Amino acid sequence: MVGSRSCAACDEINDTNAKFCRKCGADLTETSYQWAAGGGFDVWWMLGGVAVMFGVQTGAGILLGLMGISRLGTLPLVLIALVAFALGGFLVGRFSKGKTILEPAVSAVIAVALAMFVKGHFNLLAIVIGGILPFLAALAGGWLGEKAQGTI
Ligand SMILES: [Zn+2]
Repeated sequence: MVGSRSCAACDEINDTNAKFCRKCGADLTETSYQWAAGGGFDVWWMLGGVAVMFGVQTGAGILLGLMGISRLGTLPLVLIALVAFALGGFLVGRFSKGKTILEPAVSAVIAVALAMFVKGHFNLLAIVIGGILPFLAALAGGWLGEKAQGTI
């Protein structure tokens, strides 16, 4: 029901902006506080970030392979990974409500692990190029997204 809020203690219908229940006096702001706190980390946004990062990176990698550009070496792939992670981080940071820099960070860790698992690269160079750099790109993207949303 729009414009009203039922009391969790006695079910009395109160105005949305009421601080205390008019019947039993229970604190109604507690619920809204919990909503705000729960908006800090959203699993679905985090998974969405993984989908964008891993999807763009893998899709572009396959496309480059089909075009024969993979002969140019790993540099284009690294650049694509950076763009994919920054984009994923930005989207999550921009559209997930609240200050949610943790979401793109977790997304990046999972997407990096996925990419490494798929490629089978676990050496130090692969971890630095394919892991830490995209992770930082995701954080930068997430930070820009938060800035665009105005939470920083
Ligand atoms: Zn009440």
